[in-house]
Amino acid sequence: MADRYAVIGNPIEQSKSPLIHAEFARACGQTLVYERILGPLGGFAACVDAFRSEGGLGLNVTAPFKLDACAYCTELSLDARLAGAVNAMKFEGRQILGQNFDGLGLVRDLEVNLATPLAGRRVLVVGAGGAARGAWLPLLSCRPAELVVVNRTPAKAHELVELAHQHAPDSARTCRVQGMGFEELRGRVFDVVLHATSAGLSDQLPALDATVFAPGGLAYDLTYGKGLTPFLRLAQHRGQVRLVDGVGMLVEQAAEAFTWWRGVRPDTASVIAQLQVPLLAPHP
Ligand code: NDP
Repeated sequence: MADRYAVIGNPIEQSKSPLIHAEFARACGQTLVYERILGPLGGFAACVDAFRSEGGLGLNVTAPFKLDACAYCTELSLDARLAGAVNAMKFEGRQILGQNFDGLGLVRDLEVNLATPLAGRRVLVVGAGGAARGAWLPLLSCRPAELVVVNRTPAKAHELVELAHQHAPDSARTCRVQGMGFEELRGRVFDVVLHATSAGLSDQLPALDATVFAPGGLAYDLTYGKGLTPFLRLAQHRGQVRLVDGVGMLVEQAAEAFTWWRGVRPDTASVIAQLQVPLLAPHP
């Protein structure tokens, strides 16, 4: 019987993970089955118990179960523990290992695929939810000159700053780390602006001014497959800003999970190209 993996979430039909992992497996000559699981709300643990008892070897975890997955694991990587969220699990006998590859995936997309090293740059993270939290310390480890997080609820931004001082004190000393609400951001300019709120899901935009984008900089929306989102439209309006969506991050975090499970690193470029949606207009 082929080795079994899956992605669990609710809803789950939209997930690109089965396609991505099938491509990786084909390209690496690995025989495996990768399914979608619609996890019942409030029933994550029972659902994963059943998958494990049927011989499942690993899961990707998406909304709204990343916190449930964190509680379910018996061992957590540092990134998962600090993010308080798990997006990949591996089952080894009685051991349930949890990882959070969102941050690694984002950093790899920025630094390798987009050839945008963060060292010495001014970096702004918009939003302080699960995705921003997962990316926070990996971003700090790239040694930007400034790492600022802005959030509708400023207390959550302040928590991230605290996390940096506690867990990466050396990096936090050499980098200007700040957390704030949107009013405090007025007049600030950044080379790399990462949009990590869920506002775009309802076609909304946080209270950002177009002047936040430095000419020649990068505007990166973690949302993917939606074409020109309200955030990317704002950056386009500014002019001379490179526009990118989160499809590369999605594929890179999947590649980290595949490597962790199978011991082989898949090539990502062709899969990213396959999933890319043109950033010309909003995509239905
Ligand atoms: P969460 O629900 O954990 O966080 C939501 C964030 O959005 C919070 O900071 C929240 O602020 C903010 N927010 C929501 N609505 C508004 C609004 N109207 N105005 C301003 N701020 C708002 O979501 P995630 O962190 O899990 O996901 C965020 C985005 O990242 C999603 O679009 C998701 O698709 C994308 N993502 C992409 C990945 C990839 O691989 N490319 C991986 C993971 C996520 P507050 O704290 O005030 O509520």
